Order: sequence, then structure tokens, then C-alpha cells
Amino acid sequence: MNGSGVRLVLLGKPGAGKGTQAALLSAHYGVEHLSTGDVFRAAVAQGTPTGLEVKHFLDTGELVPDEIVIRVVDEHFAAGGPLEDGFILDGFPRTLVQAEELEQVLDGHPLDVVLDIEVPTETILHRIAGRRVCVNCGATYHITHPPTVDWTCDVCGGEVVQRDDDTEAAVSNRLEVYERQTVPIIDFYKKLGKLVTVEGVGEGSEVQERLIKEIDGRFQPGRR
Ligand code: ADP
Ligand code: ZN
Repeated sequence: MNGSGVRLVLLGKPGAGKGTQAALLSAHYGVEHLSTGDVFRAAVAQGTPTGLEVKHFLDTGELVPDEIVIRVVDEHFAAGGPLEDGFILDGFPRTLVQAEELEQVLDGHPLDVVLDIEVPTETILHRIAGRRVCVNCGATYHITHPPTVDWTCDVCGGEVVQRDDDTEAAVSNRLEVYERQTVPIIDFYKKLGKLVTVEGVGEGSEVQERLIKEIDGRFQPGRR
């Protein structure tokens, strides 16, 4: 497998469905899914030094400082595996500085496409108010679609809870931060000719089909 797996970035407001779609696409294309949000939540849950550093930013819906995010991503890519095998990034990059850093990290393995999942803010607010997540594997549920057994994750048996940053105050801050800090990278990827916007409203499976259609139009499996 030499540079043969798909290389994707998913963009979209908090609650646009990046995590759900990244998990589906990761299974479909057989490439890893890296969510910086999941990495930070796990670090907080385990009380690692990085977890202690980032907890306050997560709780208030502020961005973790670029230098910390870049350290985590650089470590992840350092061994080179994801560059060769392919990857789906969800929640990174989120600032122009991070987008420029990613171009360095890619080191001659360009992204195939950057997918911007578009969902109106009213829909986002409804989704996040009812969202529940597995503390162990990050699988997401909604109060209208709970796990089969009593807030126990269907995938891994972990506990399913509301995220600490899914409160009204933190969510409105995350939406503001998205507009201010992350929207500028949409233009960055437009200029690189990588950006595709996909409608994110509807069943998860419908959104997945739209994404796969766009990806398959731009990616040749087995390329080197
Ligand atoms: P959402 O997209 O729903 O806001 P994420 O799980 O992607 O959720 O991110 C949760 C939180 O983790 C963010 O509010 C932020 O504090 C932190 N975070 C995740 N990824 C990044 C990043 N690339 N840069 C800065 N902060 C990040
Ligand atoms: Zn789970």
C-alpha cells in the first residue's frame, strides 16, 4: 500500500455530522479516522498532561491553542503510516495556521478532497441539544435514537452521556468560534481547488452516499 488510501478532510459546524460521517467513511474506504476532538476528550478522561492542558478549552468551547493541536497531529503522522495508507481528518484543521501546518505534514501526499458538510444552524441546535456520546469510543446517539440497552454503547458497551461542551452556552460559543476561526479555511481550500460542499441534512446514509459520490469522482484507488 503505497499512498493508495484516500486522504480526506471533513469540515462543518459543530453538530454537522463530521464524526458520524467520518466513522462511516472510514469503514467504507478502510482508512483510519482521526478526530482531534476524540483525542482531546480521551486525554481529559485519562487525566494525561495534555488532558489537563486542554480541559478548560473543551469545556468552554474555545479552540485548543494551535501549538498543542499541532503537537498532537505531528506525533500522529510522525511514523508515516497514515500518509501511506490514507486517513480521514475530522475536526482538524480548524484554523489557517493548522491548515498550513497540514500542508507541511502531507509532504508530497496531497489531500484528495476537502468536504464541507453544510447544515443550517437551527438543525444544529436541535441535534446537539439531544446528542449523547459514548465516553469510550465516541459513537454518537440522540435522545430520539438511543442505544438499545439503557445508555450503554451498542458498539463497545461504554457509558453513553451528554458531552460537557454540549451545553447551550458552550455550543453558541463553538458556533461563533467556527465562523471566526474555521470559515476562513474554506477559502484556503477553495483556492487549492480541493473544496466540495455537501448538503448535510437528511438521513446519515443519504449524506454518506452524497459524500462517497464526490470522493469517488476525485480519487483513484490504487494510485501511487
Ligand atoms: P465539534 O465539531 O462538535 O465542536 P470536536 O469533537 O471536533 O467537536 O471538538 C471539540 C472541542 O475540541 C473543540 O470545541 C475544541 O475545544 C477542541 N478541538 C478539537 N479539534 C481542535 C482543533 N483542530 N483545534 C483546536 N481545538 C480543537
Ligand atoms: Zn462505545
